[in-house]
Amino acid sequence: MSLFDEPTGKIASVLLPKPLPEPFDYAIPADMQLAPGMFVRVPLGPRSVTGVVWAVKPGPPKRPLKAVEALIATAPSMPGVLRDFVDRVARYVVSPPGNVLAMCMRSREALLPSPVEKFITRGQGETGRMTPARLKVMDALTGIEGQGAHLVTAADLARLADVSAGVVKGLVDAGGLRQVELDADPPFDAPNPEGEGFELTADQLAAAQTLRDSVKARDFRPVLLDGITGSGKTEVYFEAIAEVLRGQPEGQILVLLPEIALTQAVRERFARRFGAMPAEWHSNMSAKERRRTWREVAFGRARIVVGARSALFLPFPRLRLIVVDEEHDGSYKQDEGVCYQGRDLAVMRAQLGKAAVVLASATPSLETVANAHAGRYGRVVLKARPGVAVLPDISIANMRETPPDKDSWLSPPLVKALEENIASGEQSLLYLNRRGYAPLVICKSCGERLKAPDTESWLTEHRYSNMLVCHLTGYMMKKPEHCPHCGAKDALTGVGPGVERLAEEARARFSTARVEVFSSDTAGSPEALADIVARMEQGEIDILIGTQIAAKGHNFPRLTLVGAVDADAGLKGAQGSDLRAGERTFQLLSQVSGRAGRADRPGRAIIQTWAPDSPAIHALAAGDRDAFMELEMGNREMMGLPPYGRLAAVVIAAEHSMAADEAANSFVAGAPNAEGVEIWGPAPAPIAVLRGRHRRRLLVRTERGVDLSGYMAVWRKRVKLSASVRVTIDIEPYSFM
Ligand code: ADP
Repeated sequence: MSLFDEPTGKIASVLLPKPLPEPFDYAIPADMQLAPGMFVRVPLGPRSVTGVVWAVKPGPPKRPLKAVEALIATAPSMPGVLRDFVDRVARYVVSPPGNVLAMCMRSREALLPSPVEKFITRGQGETGRMTPARLKVMDALTGIEGQGAHLVTAADLARLADVSAGVVKGLVDAGGLRQVELDADPPFDAPNPEGEGFELTADQLAAAQTLRDSVKARDFRPVLLDGITGSGKTEVYFEAIAEVLRGQPEGQILVLLPEIALTQAVRERFARRFGAMPAEWHSNMSAKERRRTWREVAFGRARIVVGARSALFLPFPRLRLIVVDEEHDGSYKQDEGVCYQGRDLAVMRAQLGKAAVVLASATPSLETVANAHAGRYGRVVLKARPGVAVLPDISIANMRETPPDKDSWLSPPLVKALEENIASGEQSLLYLNRRGYAPLVICKSCGERLKAPDTESWLTEHRYSNMLVCHLTGYMMKKPEHCPHCGAKDALTGVGPGVERLAEEARARFSTARVEVFSSDTAGSPEALADIVARMEQGEIDILIGTQIAAKGHNFPRLTLVGAVDADAGLKGAQGSDLRAGERTFQLLSQVSGRAGRADRPGRAIIQTWAPDSPAIHALAAGDRDAFMELEMGNREMMGLPPYGRLAAVVIAAEHSMAADEAANSFVAGAPNAEGVEIWGPAPAPIAVLRGRHRRRLLVRTERGVDLSGYMAVWRKRVKLSASVRVTIDIEPYSFM
């Protein structure tokens, strides 16, 4: 691939990964040939910054320009489709394009050639004079070889043998050891479309055919893959992937998953089907792993990438298929920095690159269902689980009729079901989306609720770490002996259950059961997560007590009972202002219930609720998803909310309460006049103080046909606020904090 297109004019417009409104112009030195997409270094104030050539224009410039300092010739050019994507996204989310570019440059090392790494292996020659130190080195190497490895770095070998680096070097010089050089970023193994798969059911075959056709069309063809949990959606979209691998030898595939579903187990499933581990991309990777994926994607060699939402910003030159698995999942929405909805951007990216896009879910978002209804998206449906697996039987435990004992969180029906499951040696999952021991700490003496010092949110008690933690900001403090408000000693007490407290109850009640907590506190690292999943799969855990992290993506064949301990928790969503609270509760509870009975034994789910008549809970028990969706759709339509109308949230944050009020009022006063736009607020945000900043928020609702992004951009430009005031615009917000 040539890095150079036609050498053209004399001025380069360069976009920098900074919050700047547009690309800056630089003079191209006479001996430099530049084309759009090339990475260059340019001066910015006193510094030198790496950016991307956005356009090359004929000279001469109207005013003197600083010159481009250097072309980074080792970097693969940024594909035109990604540059278009950056511009489109920036416009859509009302962000400076440089901030979007920054998301495409998450691996700075990737712009340089891959380094060569040096390793030591056993040599053919003499070991020379055998000193005790040299013997230790050769013994250490034999030990490493015994574990099946043949390469080790010189530093590791010296450390293992407990000798100085000079001893290893001496053995290399003598020939007893040999040094080999390897590319630090080797290509990923090529996937094979004909790998091991299941014999698909008739429904699955029909669905797979539709997806294959959409891949073959080589055009923008979004399809909703709507199938109940465990119906084989993954197997079906594997067929679409295989079609790209077979029919388009250079085509690339991106599979997006919610971040916490990106486990080793999922990647191994890809490896079984395609005979090779896919490339990965998520926030938990080392700089070296990032560089490898970024470069292999850019050179078109990585065929399948499995990643989190940020993988949309990788430099795929030939992206032919995007799969968004669990498309309804809230983790596709980023609501800090550049606020975007990954699912929507996946569709935008596919449209720009004329790629196929598959949105898969058992509980698709109303937005996607509306698009399918309107004929903008195709739809395939899987109604049954393959083989003997059936959907779990869902029942309600009405907490008014069968309340738990005092200081207990498990109602009698759930306790009974757990006892039965333990007796028959089957596994159970208790789902409670609350980390820690108790979600609230109050003073028994004065009634004070403990808050973080700089944020209007309650502190959660954690017993494992013996800390009080703010889950919004991560702020932590030791639990004080005295109430900070009235000074009473030993009066602070945790109220309500978190997973740790539930585990305490389960251990006390079921003394023979092996109980384990599964939350980001106990499974924070990939290794800890893999360990819990493996022990669950091997039947070493009887009762797993988990947060959302347990609800997503796992396949535990021996799990037959799911108890949702506080099904109503999500319904209160952000103090009533969250338009998706019902939808999200329904999705999460369906998903967690769907963990039960995925193999040969039937499963059941028990939903503990104080509100059995709320539409989400009622529909869940009745197994009537479509009735629920219709009701929700009706409500949204009546109120003109998404997907029937459009919404933007604006949060204005300042150091002082008065400054926040003033800024919010002058922001609203600056709203451009337009038809079909309503402005609600400003009002104090539900989290009125966050990290010491006072927050006001307003919502902007428009009719569907209004260019909301354009409107917000004009508005933002018109209003001049003090530099210390922060304005965040969130198009189609999911967070209502
Ligand atoms: P979903 O993605 O819809 O939740 P999966 O693709 O994970 O469903 O499939 C659920 C389980 O059923 C998996 O263990 C999968 O391997 C198995 N499975 C799917 N399709 C078949 C089939 N046709 N024959 C046998 N097992 C299947």
